[in-house]
Amino acid sequence: MTATTSRRVLLAAPRGYCAGVDRAVIAVEKALEQYGAPIYVRHEIVHNKYVVQTLERKGAIFVEQTEEVPPGSIVMFSAHGVAPVVHEEAAKGRLATIDATCPLVTKVHKEAVRFANEDYDILLIGHEGHEEVIGTSGEAPDHITLVDGPGDVEKVEVRDPSKVVWLSQTTLSVDETMETVDALKEKFPLLISPPSDDICYATQNRQLAVKQMGAEADLVIVVGSRNSSNSVRLVEVAKLAGARAAYLVDFADEIDPAWLDGVSTVGVTSGASVPEVLVEQVLEWLAGRGFEDVEIVKAAEESITFSLPKELRRDLRAEAGELMRGDTSEG
Ligand code: SF4
Repeated sequence: MTATTSRRVLLAAPRGYCAGVDRAVIAVEKALEQYGAPIYVRHEIVHNKYVVQTLERKGAIFVEQTEEVPPGSIVMFSAHGVAPVVHEEAAKGRLATIDATCPLVTKVHKEAVRFANEDYDILLIGHEGHEEVIGTSGEAPDHITLVDGPGDVEKVEVRDPSKVVWLSQTTLSVDETMETVDALKEKFPLLISPPSDDICYATQNRQLAVKQMGAEADLVIVVGSRNSSNSVRLVEVAKLAGARAAYLVDFADEIDPAWLDGVSTVGVTSGASVPEVLVEQVLEWLAGRGFEDVEIVKAAEESITFSLPKELRRDLRAEAGELMRGDTSEG
């Protein structure tokens, strides 16, 4: 008797673009249409190679530092947010700015400012060197201490243990963050929590879906870039949920066929900065190797959208007004 091997794909939902990334990418495209190329963008607008390369082809220029932008140009700040000092640098360089910081990152910035004004010590849970953490820390450098995981807790010191609050980066692993918080609470029993979740809805939902599929999948493929925090977290969450192996790929051609040895169920998902076309290419690659059955693993519904950055909305409205007036006068 010949054994038949059933091969299937579990496809996570939700996956891919979150509202903050969608808004930031559309903001660059609209800015290019509205003002013409080049539009300078400080840091990668979102952490995805494909998105960055596509926007570069359309006329966006990505820079690491504000000083690299020629005076009088337009510069956009990425979805990860920037410290107030970066706004000051832009003003000094006579740059017109468009701020594409995700509103959920801005929310954390505002919490940091509020708690700093009330003279709290703020323990910011996040990854050292990540752009979002640099931006949030810059709001209140004298009040914020970075805590990069449970291993950092021992060395954390505060001025007054009765006046301490924790905040976090938006794209962390929910479970690991709670581990860090528990360790912090043991050390500082009066530690207070942020008024609402700092880890954003998109990060939480993508992790939830991966947890559900990870328990059943032999292999999980996460589409995303290595510098994308939320994508890297999805790989970790998949392994913790029980997947035998989990890998991060930017493109389908990075998948090693050997990963499929002995595998009958493959989980597929993508980080919050990944366009769906890249997932479709992975599904095609798998279908070509007998993984044609695709089942959706749905963990949540998402319907959040954010309006474009205010500077862009203002100019688009002004242009629409001029067009209307032009139509009337020609009328
Ligand atoms: S991952 Fe969350 S915080 Fe980051 S851009 Fe998307 S919605 Fe905003």
